[in-house]
Amino acid sequence: MEHVECLIIGSGPAGYTAAIYAARADMKPVVYEGLQPGGQLTITTEVENYPGFPHGVQGPEMMNMFREQAVRLGADVRYGIVTKVEFTNGGPQKVWVDDKHEIMADAVIISTGASAKWLGIPSEQRLNGSGVSACAVCDGFFYRGQDVAIVGAGDTACEEATYLSKICNKVYMIVRRDEFRASKAMQHRVLNTKNIEVLFNSETDEILGEKGVEAVRVKNNKSGETAEYPIKGFFVAIGHQPNTDIFKPYLAMDEQGYIITKAGSSYTNVEGVFCAGDAQDKIYRQAVTAAGSGCMAALDAERWLGAKQAVQTA
Ligand code: NDP
Repeated sequence: MEHVECLIIGSGPAGYTAAIYAARADMKPVVYEGLQPGGQLTITTEVENYPGFPHGVQGPEMMNMFREQAVRLGADVRYGIVTKVEFTNGGPQKVWVDDKHEIMADAVIISTGASAKWLGIPSEQRLNGSGVSACAVCDGFFYRGQDVAIVGAGDTACEEATYLSKICNKVYMIVRRDEFRASKAMQHRVLNTKNIEVLFNSETDEILGEKGVEAVRVKNNKSGETAEYPIKGFFVAIGHQPNTDIFKPYLAMDEQGYIITKAGSSYTNVEGVFCAGDAQDKIYRQAVTAAGSGCMAALDAERWLGAKQAVQTA
């Protein structure tokens, strides 16, 4: 059976950054890239808020650069999906790739990220990246001065609607019930922002447009009436799903499945298993914060392994 010092599961900004640091610390990291190599950034277009790129950079291109840097420094980056794990306190940890290849790892860094939830209507998929986005902070800027719509009624939707209201001309907020789910403070902010119009009891019937978004057809689920709103950007903010199912039997998680890390660190409740990026972060969810937490995980793993080896040789 293959035995590695440091295994990294997942390959967004958190996973690749962890790989860069682990490789430089001579931990010979092996990275399994997972279902979507490069993570969520590979389905966005331009990234303008990652420091160091004064003219912006395409999401997929940036992830290629992260990968290239990790490989150049010695990370062994492999295609493959981790399908099962068996964690024990202190390790070594057992990991199965593609249901067959079994690996033992002294330290594991989980960076499997999260996936945005989508409405599931065909026009949303067709126009994804051409006006449809699940991240207002990433893509809102492209619609400055224009009219946009956002779906959702939680804290994220309210926060993103407020963010968009500062950039865009008008924000329609499509809320499926007659009330918000968000905290009172967030609701209050939305309801007191002049250029946000909340459409309660409303569902997205269809996003209209050929090459880009031109309008949204909204259906009132009480009256059955539909109305069209001309918009250029359509944002979906109905929650995220952390990709953490396979770790459920072993790791402490919150009720939504986000892995709980010890405050200010990447330590999970299992010694030798660390977590970085969106799999443990439902608040910030930015590439730069994910990268920062990937760095933390590699440093934590290095120190933990160092302390363990020191005890073994003493
Ligand atoms: P939530 O799960 O809290 O909210 C999701 C929202 O999307 C709900 O209003 C839900 O409607 C709506 N929704 C779900 N599916 C559909 C659908 N198919 N069509 C239309 N609407 C739909 O997710 P969030 O991302 O907002 O928040 C996740 C967690 O992160 C929460 O605990 C939140 O408090 C926290 N958070 C905290 C922040 C902060 O403190 N600054 C910022 C952002 C998030 P319905 O209400 O009808 O179910």
